[in-house]
Amino acid sequence: MSRDVCVIGAGVVGLASAVNILEHIPDVRVTIIADKFSPNTTADGAAGVWMLYNLGNTPEYLQRRWAETTFHHLETLLKTEESSIAGVTALPMFGISDDPMKEHWSKIVYGYKQVPTGEMVKLFPYAQRKFGTFHITLLCECRMYLPWLMRRFKERGGKLINERILEFQELTGRYDVIVNCTGVDARLLVADNSVQPIRGQLKRVTAPWIKHAVFDFTSQCYIIPCADNIVLGGTTQHGDWNKKPNEDDSEKILQNAHAIYPSLKNATIEHDWVGLRPGRPSVRLETEIRKVGGKEAKIVHNYGHGGSGITLHWGCAQDTTALVAELLGEKVNFRKQPPSKL
Ligand SMILES: Cc1cc2nc3c(=O)[nH]c(=O)nc-3n(C[C@H](O)[C@H](O)[C@H](O)COP(=O)(O)OP(=O)(O)OC[C@H]3O[C@@H](n4cnc5c(N)ncnc54)[C@H](O)[C@@H]3O)c2cc1C
Repeated sequence: MSRDVCVIGAGVVGLASAVNILEHIPDVRVTIIADKFSPNTTADGAAGVWMLYNLGNTPEYLQRRWAETTFHHLETLLKTEESSIAGVTALPMFGISDDPMKEHWSKIVYGYKQVPTGEMVKLFPYAQRKFGTFHITLLCECRMYLPWLMRRFKERGGKLINERILEFQELTGRYDVIVNCTGVDARLLVADNSVQPIRGQLKRVTAPWIKHAVFDFTSQCYIIPCADNIVLGGTTQHGDWNKKPNEDDSEKILQNAHAIYPSLKNATIEHDWVGLRPGRPSVRLETEIRKVGGKEAKIVHNYGHGGSGITLHWGCAQDTTALVAELLGEKVNFRKQPPSKL
């Protein structure tokens, strides 16, 4: 018996959910319905660092489980020839701050260590931050990763519809399960007023001499080397829907980056970009049975990933798949992840 599932949303969260559902539930047909596809989703513009950020009060055990599953998925990809096409690479990263840093994901990444004060002075003579950490994390550049994932979806028979959904009523009767991965626009579709944008402006520059990432937890400045350019960030503006880059933010981003590495004054500016992180007090990943126009709609929500959608996407996609399977009267088994280093 064939079953029809539709996923609303073609961002990193929707696409990963659609692929996992297709690959793990037998005899299922999956359609993605979205008004924006890559390269126009939020993750396409983001740097794509595996790192937990802006997740509100999402329980720590869930953050860790979803993030760790995603890390192992990207790590597996990193070991294959596909990694260069999928945009996945290892990324050395310094965290710097005026206050001690508590990074509860530190045991998942490689080689996490505190940087002694004496070395901080040598490595960051201009920033003058008291505390520093170093580790190697993973970078998942979604302008490459999303097309790679989309190919995987289509090869397995997935279908696409380019359309904006105004109400679930448009879908009931056509699909057995609806998966809601609408990011910040979930605020409109499900009238969830706890969703709000966290505006992020960043800048892409050419500066090939920068070979490692820096995240300054005090100024919220970040410097991230990607395949073709360097990302300089950023802003974290809660409740701001403005998707246009603004001059003041742009200037501040440059000032903060120059305060860490003055050599960035010699970088060639490429462009500014703004994205809206789907902020929510907590990620919403759960089933809802709604009465819609006299019919029952079976919905699985997967949205509200703040500044960590790329970091959590695969773990959340697996849990979403398990909920979809349950609604279809199935059970799924994901291959066991390697044991946690925690
Ligand atoms: C500046 C910036 C930097 C970031 N850096 C990182 C980082 O380094 N690491 C990290 O992990 N995360 C980062 N993030 C966060 C990450 O980009 C987001 O959490 C993630 O992209 C959210 O993905 P999503 O699929 O939920 O939403 P989106 O990418 O916004 O996708 C939503 C999808 O739903 C569709 N949609 C919405 N409503 C409807 C509707 N009614 N009908 C049809 N379709 C609809 C849209 O068309 C789109 O396809 C960053 C974000 C920003 C802004």
